[in-house]
Amino acid sequence: RYCSLHFRTPAKPEPAPLTDQVLSGYDPELWRALQKEEFELFYQPRIDLRQGEICGAEALIRWRHPEKGLQSPDTFIPQCEASGLIVPMGYWIIQEAGRALPAIQEAGMEGRIGINLSFRQFQDTYLASTIERLLDEHNMSSQAMEFELTETALCNDEEHVRNTIEQLSRRGVEFSLDDFGTGYSSFSLLQKLPITTLKIDKSFVDGIPGNPDDEEIVRAIINLAHNLNKQVIAEGVETRAQLEFLIRHDCDQVQGFFFSRPVPLDQFLTLVSRRQKQ
Ligand code: C2E
Ligand code: CA
Ligand code: CA
Ligand code: CA
Repeated sequence: RYCSLHFRTPAKPEPAPLTDQVLSGYDPELWRALQKEEFELFYQPRIDLRQGEICGAEALIRWRHPEKGLQSPDTFIPQCEASGLIVPMGYWIIQEAGRALPAIQEAGMEGRIGINLSFRQFQDTYLASTIERLLDEHNMSSQAMEFELTETALCNDEEHVRNTIEQLSRRGVEFSLDDFGTGYSSFSLLQKLPITTLKIDKSFVDGIPGNPDDEEIVRAIINLAHNLNKQVIAEGVETRAQLEFLIRHDCDQVQGFFFSRPVPLDQFLTLVSRRQKQ
């Protein structure tokens, strides 16, 4: 299988004292930012195309840097993956989403919060059991969580990835396949893993309507998902024309700037309660 990201370092299930982390190679600035809670989750709504309502959200991390201001994940996630900091950071992300959940449900949102899981987090042997422990300790409903993974997750030991996903699925956690269509092993993944949702990558959505190849690919992914009894979400929807194409071709959900950018929690709550009142 094609995979350029294959590397292995010992898993770190729990944040250890600061000195250990620095010695072990985490970027000290990012580690400190994690300790000082400078990271923040933004939320982007997912819209159900049959009901026309918010039916979930994706949590997307931001760094409120004290001097440089709001930093997008592309500027620090790759570094966190390379050093392994994404492992403790990933647990912080799950806890933070869990803390936000009661307010989000209170505002009237039904459906799940999607949390991105990096391929690197699967190198933690204790991923499934730690997530289960977090769910228990924080009284988080597993029905309210969904994890988004990309095909690079399978750069790890395939059996370990499958066991992890199956263990959590049994508890009611769901999994979606992110950036669908851009990787190398989509079909074998679909066959092997209990994935409930496919997310059509923005690069294909960009070309609809108008680009015949992208139109064909989007239609094919929607049909594939439905034939396999899975839900399908189109990402990066920015225009009404894209939306209309997706409705016409029976896509289940959309996410994109056309409805809302990812926003801080308080703005997201306003968005949800305003929608519920309509
Ligand atoms: P992703 O998981 O594919 O997330 C979707 C990205 O598309 C987000 O960028 C989102 O803001 C952006 N997006 C959504 N709708 C539109 C649209 O209509 N137009 C355009 N131009 N963009 C749109 P963001 O937030 O910058 O995140 C980038 C990537 O960073 C994510 O891609 C994901 O791979 C990673 N990431 C973000 N948050 C987390 C996290 O909490 N954990 C991990 N492991 N990775 C994360
Ligand atoms: Ca995602
Ligand atoms: Ca994506
Ligand atoms: Ca992406």
